[in-house]
Amino acid sequence: MTDGAEGREHRVTFRLKRDAYCGELGVEDHGREVTLNGWAARRRDHGGLIFIDLRDDSGVVQVVFDPRASEQSHGIAEDVRPEYVLGVLGEVRPRPEGRENPSMPTGAVEVLVRDVEVINPSKTPPFEVKEDVSVDERVRLQYRYIDLRRQSMHEGMKLRHRIIKATHDFLTAQGFTEVETPRLTKSTPEGARDFLVPSRLQPGRFYALPQSPQLFKQILMISGFDRYYQIARCYRDEDLRADRQPEFTQIDIEMSFVDEDDIIATTDGLLAEVFRAAGRELESPVGRMPYDEAMERYGTDRPDLRYRMLMDTLNDVFKTTGFKVFANALEAGGCIRGMRIEGGSAMSRSDLDGWERKAQELGAPGLLWFVLESDGLKSPVAKFLSDEEKDGLISTLRLEPGDAAFLMAGGRVACDEVLYQLRPGVAKKLGLIPNDDYRAVWIVDFPLLEYDEVEKRYKSLHHPFTSPTEDSLAGLEDEPLAARARAYDIVINGVEIGGGSVRIHRRDVQERMFKLLSIPPSESEAKFGFLLEALEYGAPPHGGIALGLDRLVMLLAGRDTIRDTIAFPKTQSATCPLTGAPDEVAEAQLRDLGLKGSSG
Ligand code: ASP
Repeated sequence: MTDGAEGREHRVTFRLKRDAYCGELGVEDHGREVTLNGWAARRRDHGGLIFIDLRDDSGVVQVVFDPRASEQSHGIAEDVRPEYVLGVLGEVRPRPEGRENPSMPTGAVEVLVRDVEVINPSKTPPFEVKEDVSVDERVRLQYRYIDLRRQSMHEGMKLRHRIIKATHDFLTAQGFTEVETPRLTKSTPEGARDFLVPSRLQPGRFYALPQSPQLFKQILMISGFDRYYQIARCYRDEDLRADRQPEFTQIDIEMSFVDEDDIIATTDGLLAEVFRAAGRELESPVGRMPYDEAMERYGTDRPDLRYRMLMDTLNDVFKTTGFKVFANALEAGGCIRGMRIEGGSAMSRSDLDGWERKAQELGAPGLLWFVLESDGLKSPVAKFLSDEEKDGLISTLRLEPGDAAFLMAGGRVACDEVLYQLRPGVAKKLGLIPNDDYRAVWIVDFPLLEYDEVEKRYKSLHHPFTSPTEDSLAGLEDEPLAARARAYDIVINGVEIGGGSVRIHRRDVQERMFKLLSIPPSESEAKFGFLLEALEYGAPPHGGIALGLDRLVMLLAGRDTIRDTIAFPKTQSATCPLTGAPDEVAEAQLRDLGLKGSSG
């Protein structure tokens, strides 16, 4: 093909190749001649002069087209539209006095253009490349390459990279080895549905994508690798929420000849490094809170310690009450739960009524509010309570004048769920949540099991490979719900960042656990026989943890959704609008996989 002199559309090369980055120019570059490559972010025509903000990965700089400097360049700039890819050559100069832009890192300078090349034009983008653009997320994901051009998205991805690098550096220095484990494997029990991959060579059989590398990392301990980690991709087919994705990344860790304290200490060290890499600080070592205390005082095992608003049970205060709502709940075997709201009297009556409506939307039959003023406790239901009950309420919830309280009566789990869900909204409204503050806590002393009323069987709170405590072992079968686990979760600002446990390393104990979980021997053999067998060939005591990388980045980047921390995430309905996955496949492919008979 001949390359006509001006036939840009026939060129595959470009003429103006950069020797500088847009975002790095500053006053120290005055007088320097630079060539820049980038995208036209914004173009302004100011009677004679044309200004374009040129954007590359490093940032943005203003370039100026003045016909007196280059008439030809100015002419070309007239036709430049947003997102055109340009090469420009020009001189860095100070902006005229009064025209500096202090909100822009390069705002003290501009580049006076002498030569320009349109390397590639762009269709009008479906949305502008700017922060807080209000466009449907589906569209953002369909045109993810445009969405990702935003500075904040670049910053988020770079932060993610720094966090991964800090993880590699820290764990390597601690003697860990990264080992990759298979993506095509057998089901691992993390409590979600599996993604399945049909096997062509073994018709009728399926691989499962790993929900985590749990069993492989345990096998690696049995193989004598003392300290394993992996930046591991995990797959769970579950209904999505803001902080869930069908595929996500974990910092997966396992160590041999350790107890809980060793794993917690290593994780504390890792988190301190990761926070440092993100330019933040985390108190180290991180404090611990027993599971029971978290449930009693925060109504959740993911407490947000940045603000107080603690809960208490008020059954004793109201045990002989004449107030029907409370009396009925107690009679039905339920409870009365209250949450103190520091400074809550700042809320107006209509605010308080608004929270009651919100509680009802969340499924609560009602929510009672109280405000402690200097002349006593105020509430629409105060008149139904005795003085003694009011005093009991005030002292149990430790209310001080100016505080408010929410009370709920009913089933314990239902009450706590509603109070837990109201807590962040109320705290935010009252300005109780400090900015840029990170409060972490280890939740420890978990129960080993919970009872699933629907399936009528015990289930592991973590997973079936979690070791019970030494004290729980003897009475495991007699009192399963009293058994405690050697498990721990790390929670930062109310977000569960990770969890792990010391594992069972003896076959007999693992078999007892499967039995307790009502997994018949035939099934445990079929699913986990390889692990059970490996446990008989010299398995060391071992334990580990997995940290959710996407959530960690979300937290450190100050984002609300993990979709902002993943370059190509899925929508809430697990689709990828960019590629159109999941997609239909050709009949022939289905036949190859034995998923469709040859007759169709
Ligand atoms: N495999 C667990 C998970 O993915 C973590 C662990 O126990 O190490 O949640």
